[in-house]
Formats: sequence, C-alpha cells, structure tokens
Amino acid sequence: MSKLEENLKKAETYLARFRDKGVLNRIAGAVVPAASGQTFETISPVDLKPLAQVALGGAEDVNAAAEAARTAFPEWAAMDGGARKKLLHKIADAIVERAEEIAFVECMDTGQALRFMSKAALRGAENFRFFADRAPSARDGQALRAPGQLNVTTRVPIGPVGIITPWNTPFMLSTWKIAPALAAGCTIVHKPAEFSPLTASLLVEIAEEAGLPKGVWNLVNGMGDGAGKALTEHPAIKAIGFVGESRTGQHIMRQGADTLKRVHFELGGKNPVVVFADADLERAADSAVFMIYSLNGERCTSSSRLLVEESIYDAFTEMVAEKAKRIKIGHPLDPETVVGPLIHPEHEKKVLSYFDIARQEGATIAAGGAKADGPGGGCYVAPTLFTHANNGMRIAQEEIFGPVLTAIPFRDETEALSLANDVDYGLTGYLWTRDVTRALRFSDGLQAGMIWVNSENVRHLPTPFGGVKNSGIGRDGGDWSFDFYMETKNIAFATAEHAIPKLGG
Ligand code: NAD
Repeated sequence: MSKLEENLKKAETYLARFRDKGVLNRIAGAVVPAASGQTFETISPVDLKPLAQVALGGAEDVNAAAEAARTAFPEWAAMDGGARKKLLHKIADAIVERAEEIAFVECMDTGQALRFMSKAALRGAENFRFFADRAPSARDGQALRAPGQLNVTTRVPIGPVGIITPWNTPFMLSTWKIAPALAAGCTIVHKPAEFSPLTASLLVEIAEEAGLPKGVWNLVNGMGDGAGKALTEHPAIKAIGFVGESRTGQHIMRQGADTLKRVHFELGGKNPVVVFADADLERAADSAVFMIYSLNGERCTSSSRLLVEESIYDAFTEMVAEKAKRIKIGHPLDPETVVGPLIHPEHEKKVLSYFDIARQEGATIAAGGAKADGPGGGCYVAPTLFTHANNGMRIAQEEIFGPVLTAIPFRDETEALSLANDVDYGLTGYLWTRDVTRALRFSDGLQAGMIWVNSENVRHLPTPFGGVKNSGIGRDGGDWSFDFYMETKNIAFATAEHAIPKLGG
C-alpha cells in the first residue's frame, strides 16, 4: 500500500464522525444543532464531494453562546493564573496526542498539503504552551511613583470576546487567537470560516475534554453575514479578534460601532520580496518560492510581489520559473505534495480569473497560468509566475491569495522602496541584500508590520505580528496579545497627606 493510500484510509476513519453526525455547535458545553435546525454543506476541495453537514448558526445561536460566555466569565477570570496555565498545557498535550487526526481532517477540508499541516497542528499546541506560561503574569503591571503618590497599574480581562477566523489554515490560526484570550482570562465565542469548519469542532472538544469549564469556549458555525455579523453586534461581546479579508474588516468595524467593540484585525496582504543584485540569489529564490507556493499561496504573509533589481531580473525570474515548474502538485495527503487544491471552486474561479487579467494587462506568464490536473479532479491550480509586470497592474495590486507570483523589475533602491510601498496593504516585507546599511535604511522606509531580512517568514512567538495600512489594526504575539484581551487599570495611592483643595468651607 502506498503512503497516500494508507493516509486516505486513516482520513476515512477520522472523517466518518463528521459524515455520520455532522458538525454541530457547542454552547455551554452542550453539542447542539442550530436553533433553526438548518445546516449547510462543507465539501472537500480534492473532489468537491460533501464532507459533512454543518449547523447553520444565526443570531439566536450566537445569543445563547454569548450568554454562556458571559455566565462563565466571572469564575474563569478569577481563576488563579497558575491553574489556568496548567489547564492550557493540558490542552496542548491533547492537541499533540491528536495531531495526526487534526492534520488529516484539515488537509481534506482545506486542500492544504500534509507536509505543512502536520506542523500546523503541532504549532497550535505550541501556541497554547506559549500563552499558558504567560498566564500567571498576565495581570502584572508597573509601579509609577510621583511626589506623594504611588501608581500601580494592573490588567484585567476585558470580558467575553468573539473570535472570527478565515479558511486558509483554520486550526493554527484559531489557536493563535484563542490561546491568548483564554490565558488572559477571557471567555470566548468562536465563529470559524464556513469553507473549512471541521477542525474548529475538534479544537473545542479537545479543550473541554482536557477540563476547560463549560461555557468558557463556545463554538457557533455559520455564515459571515449571519452568525458572524450577530457576534460582532452582540452587547455581551466586548472585543472581536478577526482574521480575514480587509473588506470584511470594514464591515465588522461598522457592525461593531453601536456596541463600541474593541477590534483587532489581521487582514490581507500583497507583500513584496525585494531582491538586490548583491544578494545570495539561490537562497533568495528558494525563499521567494517557499513564501508564495507553500500553503497553496493561501497565506496572508505570502510574498506575492517579487521586486528584482534590473541587472539580474531575467536570470533571477528564470530561476524562480524553473523551480515553480518543478513543484509537485498532488493530493493533500500525499507526503510528497507541495501544492494541493485551492479551498473551494469559488476561490479557484477568482484565482484563475487573474490569468486572463495578466494577459490583458500585457504581462508574460513564465510558469503555470492554468488549472492543473490533480487526483480527485478538484480545485488544482499550477504554481504561476507573471513576469514583465509593472506595479500599476491589477496582478501587482490585488491580493490573489493563490500560488501566483508577480515579478517586477526595479532600477535602484529608491525605485524599489517606492514600488514596495505603492500598494494599499502593508503586512510583511522580505528583503535580500548583503549590504547591512542598505538593509537598515530600506527596512526603515518600508511600510509593513513585519520585515524579514535575508530570510523567509520564520516566526518567533514573542515578537509582534500584524500589519499596517489595509493589512490590519493591532498586534498579536507576546505581551501584545494581552494588551488586546485585557483592560489596563491604574490605581493611585496617596503616600502622604497632601493638601486637598477645600471647596465650600
Ligand atoms: P473572509 O473575510 O471572507 O472571512 C473570514 C471570516 O469572517 C469567516 O469566518 C467569515 O464567515 C467571516 N465574515 C464574513 N463576513 C462577515 C461579517 N459581515 N461579519 C462578521 N464576520 C464575517 O476571509 P477568508 O476569505 O476566509 O480568508 C482569506 C483572507 O484572510 C485573506 O484576505 C487573507 O490575507 C486573510 N488572512 C489574514 C491573516 C493575517 O494574519 N493578516 C491570516 C490569514 C488570513
């Protein structure tokens, strides 16, 4: 039996429960269908066949979940940080134990390749461990002295929060948002993306089996304009942690206005990788290829614009094109696969539409540029490189969110910086040069929340994660996550009997 056949058999076992029982909501510890009884279908992008019927939650379900989160909040918030730490580590242990199941389900629901998803499940566990260790000190603050006064700052959890996640790497992203919220002492209502809802139900199940009190973590499935909208409008929900498209962020800000929601947005990107002629070109090419073709290019931090110094443009783009053509497209559960099917036919249609746009705009298709054959006949798209593009083209400005790279030449550093910044987004930037002074100068001017010099995206959990411009508001990671999920409070103590103004005698 081949490794793929073996994996398919295992996947069948893991998926059977969803096919038989569907995907339900979880409210106050109870596994329940939508109040309306309605469901929607989730399909696998491998063969477009249904994987499960999913509860179609709406305002009534969100209300029940938000009330459960409100009821559970006081006790959870008051729990000793050390006890919370222990519990979050138990959740991490349980994720590790079920890592294979999570990875296989994720692959079949999203089309992402196992070589990346097997790590994503373990990374989810690491996220829990990282924030677990910080739970005991989350409330800590500063002592600020003034003459006759001692100020003590502390942080308190903001209350029940809503977490709304996208479909691209749902398990990892959910842990990234949920672990710090729980460590801070918040209770949550999670609304996962409708295209890939399966692993969210595994995650909350794992947490409750590990001992998380009922109602601390609630799950409502549904559509963005149904359950998602209701969550952003609910008065018991104090903040929304959102990862998704920039346009959806705009909707959420409007929807949350009446209840003055605190929002944290991690949105889209059109991130440049800037390659100067003095760079280690082989490493730069490997990094550019990794950052656009891994995770099917469905990655907010993907380097989707390749800016290359004129003198090496032809040779460098040829290197990238050759690598792109050799990438293995295949079944997500095949350990050899790099690029699997895109999430859904609707998204595939959007990505494919950019091939015609590129032709109309006069760019050259140096690799890919077409739908690809793949096992199951699903949403496979060939790794694609557009060359001879300019920054004014739609292929250089719009987030395509697939394995599609647009290469643009630049004359000098000044032009490179201007091209890099001439876009609505500002999530990440990647810079390749051996000139340290230039690297410092360039990264100072680059409009991005995160910049990697001579590296692909290698995430260090204590560092801030987030974007500028249309790529987001706020930062995750390290203590920045606690700043979002907690309120800072200042308590001023008089340390002497200072003169109090006497009004009225
Ligand atoms: P999306 O914005 O369409 O959906 C994200 C979530 O929002 C889903 O759960 C959806 O149901 C919900 N939603 C939709 N409309 C809503 C509304 N009116 N009110 C409340 N919720 C609503 O995004 P997507 O297509 O699922 O994901 C892809 C996008 O996510 C890309 O733009 C990508 O760059 C971005 N992303 C960003 C990061 C980051 O960290 N910056 C990470 C991953 C993905």
